[in-house]
Amino acid sequence: MADTKYIFVTGGVISSLGKGIIAASLGKLLQARGYKVTIQKFDPYINIDPGTLNPYEHGECYVTVDGHEADLDLGHYERFLNVPTTRANNITTGRIYQSVISKERKGDYLGKTVQVVPHITDEIKRNIKLLGTKDKYDFVITEIGGTVGDIESLPFIESVRQLKWELGKSCICVHLTYVPYIAAAKEVKTKPTQHSVKQLQELGIQPDVLVLRTERELKGDILRKVALFCNVEEGAVVQSMDVPTIYEVPLVLQDQKMDETVLRKAGLEIGPKPEMGPWKNFLNKKYTATETVTIGLVGKYVELPDAYKSINESLLQAATYHHRKLDLQFIHSEKLNDENAKEMLGSLDAILVAPGFGQRGLEGKFSALRFARENDVPLLGICLGMQCMVIEFARNVLGFAEANSTEMNPTTPYKVIDIMEEQKTVTNMGGSMRLGAYDCELKAGSKALEAYGSTNIQERHRHRFEFNNEYKAQFEAAGMMCTGENPETNLVEVVEIPSLKWFVGVQFHPEYNSTVVNPNPLFMSFVQAAINK
Ligand code: GLN
Repeated sequence: MADTKYIFVTGGVISSLGKGIIAASLGKLLQARGYKVTIQKFDPYINIDPGTLNPYEHGECYVTVDGHEADLDLGHYERFLNVPTTRANNITTGRIYQSVISKERKGDYLGKTVQVVPHITDEIKRNIKLLGTKDKYDFVITEIGGTVGDIESLPFIESVRQLKWELGKSCICVHLTYVPYIAAAKEVKTKPTQHSVKQLQELGIQPDVLVLRTERELKGDILRKVALFCNVEEGAVVQSMDVPTIYEVPLVLQDQKMDETVLRKAGLEIGPKPEMGPWKNFLNKKYTATETVTIGLVGKYVELPDAYKSINESLLQAATYHHRKLDLQFIHSEKLNDENAKEMLGSLDAILVAPGFGQRGLEGKFSALRFARENDVPLLGICLGMQCMVIEFARNVLGFAEANSTEMNPTTPYKVIDIMEEQKTVTNMGGSMRLGAYDCELKAGSKALEAYGSTNIQERHRHRFEFNNEYKAQFEAAGMMCTGENPETNLVEVVEIPSLKWFVGVQFHPEYNSTVVNPNPLFMSFVQAAINK
């Protein structure tokens, strides 16, 4: 394709409408037509990245292959498109300002007054175009975080206006709004949509496509009314009704020819409608599954399912490929102890101990691990979950009662989990962990090797602490084996208890690398073990 086309996805009326899912679904449809597509997200907050944000603030922190701590929407982009994202796919206001201010300090602006327009907006536009020019994508879809009308998203909206003016047909604006149903009036209401489009128009942007989020099906006359009041072509108003799974959304948009509308507006040939075979195969498996697999996720953010978004999706994908419904039970680690473990965990087919930071809820994780180890329940520990496996084993099998991670107790006599050497001098909290994809070599005969089917794998990391190799011989003599290591640094990446049916802990995060058409092998193996139980 000659020039890159830029699609912007904005949101109106309220937040949490699922702009990320709409962007990912449209991207999927264009990709299925043979285009090279990427999706990026602009977040209007001042933080440089979400790495320092509490999950209560912003849900899960996703990690890209190149080690960027990113918004969880990038996880959706990867799960839908099956293409890795990088640092360039998630930009915050903080990063834009940081870059402009450092240019100012270098003297790059040659004595000019540095202003929001044009300097901040130029920097925003540069970051949008970078993916098109450098990586030569056919379509760059840019999701603008926040809601139209927010003070903090104004520079982004202004940049979109300028790009639309500069690029003409190569720039398409998709605006997502909400159409509420008022029970007392027994009516859906389009006024909030009209207002939100007016607000966008006041900022100089005429949307090309409108997506209306709704809980009830919208009749043709409603869509026509919205089209008329909002200056949008009739066929370009599509609805996105609540569906049982987010993975249904691409098909919902395809039925309404949203991809064709975008191609036509961009001046491209429409071509044959893609079959979406593997995608439909996945959905078909999901809908026809009759048996259930029950998995308990032990963590401290259970009241906030977004905190473990990628884990939830990885488990769902693996269960679906095993033709099972997933019953995922969130178990609050703060409520768990040795006394109630049997009652709280007894009915599960498998247990996953979640990643995390800090002391809160840690003792409950040990109780879950002890219960799983003593009752041979399939168990997967991820990152902190793996570190807890090591500590629990040290305390209850090796008899090191005060064993701990130096993250929780810097003066423990048994530092079985210790700060990594290169972390000892790090003082800044932001972007300073061991981040991104690293090599791991798996040992013969291990469950991990059986799962991945390859000795050399790469998975993504996000941690400061590691297994302390000084204790390796003692662990292995007592039955906990180190079955995966980084070939350059010898950092332990996988531990297992081979005498148990499936008891695996990984220092890396396999959940960041599991997509609809390519589920992660470790999750596949873990869910198989759950089914076997
Ligand atoms: N807190 C642990 C560390 O920093 C584990 C991190 C995690 O689970 N992502 O090493």
